[in-house]
Amino acid sequence: MENFVYNGNPGRVIFGRGTIARLPEEAERLKARRILVLSTPEQAEQASAIARHMGSRAVATYSKAQMHTPVEVTADAMRYVEQHAIDALLSVGGGSTTGLGKAIAFRTDLPQIVVPTTYAGSEATPILGETESGRKVTKSDPRILPEVIVYDVDLTMTLPVSLSVTSGINAVAHAVEALYAKEANPIISLMAEEGITAIARALPRIHSNLGDEDARADALYGAWLCGVCLGSVGMALHHKLCHTLGGMFNLPHAQMHTAVLPHAIAYNADATPAAMARLGRALGAADPAAGIFDLAKGLGATMSLKDLGMSDGSVDAAVEQAMSNAYWNPRELEKRGLTDLLERAFRGDAPK
Ligand code: NAD
Repeated sequence: MENFVYNGNPGRVIFGRGTIARLPEEAERLKARRILVLSTPEQAEQASAIARHMGSRAVATYSKAQMHTPVEVTADAMRYVEQHAIDALLSVGGGSTTGLGKAIAFRTDLPQIVVPTTYAGSEATPILGETESGRKVTKSDPRILPEVIVYDVDLTMTLPVSLSVTSGINAVAHAVEALYAKEANPIISLMAEEGITAIARALPRIHSNLGDEDARADALYGAWLCGVCLGSVGMALHHKLCHTLGGMFNLPHAQMHTAVLPHAIAYNADATPAAMARLGRALGAADPAAGIFDLAKGLGATMSLKDLGMSDGSVDAAVEQAMSNAYWNPRELEKRGLTDLLERAFRGDAPK
């Protein structure tokens, strides 16, 4: 075995069905008396129901969370924090809501309880990506890492099928890049393989029956493991490309990850045989890039970046931006190879 460094992020995780019933107890553990409940506008009702369940401890709700955590929204929410003398945050939703909670925690060091309802995995990371004047800036800080995660499978049952699929593949992307990360280590690789296995097993079952409780539990468990991977080791080409494309074209997060991932895997495959062996085992596919592509496409995901909103004739500019300040990657970033990669993803072709 090679030498390795493992950095475990602290955090308390409650997992199961009906677990939101334990939120008051968790708030008590944190000595939280004045909680702000956060959500997107679409999940405002769900957040209000949870706020009612929290009783007098939940003193306000703020339901204007948005994708990519715009700093103006955070500034608006900060007024609620001050006006209501908030002493803890309860984020109910996907990565957008978790992002808002993290942005407030970064500014205030308030403790966070997160109730995730997608498979984005942000709740398990000390990473925050904020958008200011159209630019996304990412930071990592211990204040950003949520103190408590309450996974309640029941809350994921309403996640629509298309978002279930793409959010699941978004989670897989974290684990794939953890398998070949510069800081890869045996513990995180265990979590990555188990996370991918759980999600790959769950998605076809969710696709055929949104209400399959066991499949929903598998997917959420996998999402947590993949989130831990994202929060523990550095990411590479796939995340750099998505960061670039997200910033340039404001593409929808989970869908964009799904369209890019098979191509990023294909690009790195020859340079990462051990990671590919684990990935192939987790997916039950001899060719992992094709395995991911077939899984996502077979479940109805849009595989063309053009169809997701990337403009015609913009591949060269995207490649140029992705190659500037590039992340570490197991294979050198070559202009020609990346252009070919993005052209394929743009058209929605199979990976090569
Ligand atoms: P999202 O949070 O934007 O959710 C998408 C939509 O689905 C929203 O309208 C939301 O209200 C709705 N929704 C969520 N759960 C639902 C449910 N169970 N039933 C019905 N509707 C539901 O999407 P996301 O993909 O979870 O998060 C994307 C954001 O998270 C991006 O901004 C991304 O950058 C960020 N992110 C950050 C990290 C990190 O570690 N910092 C990790 C992953 C994602």
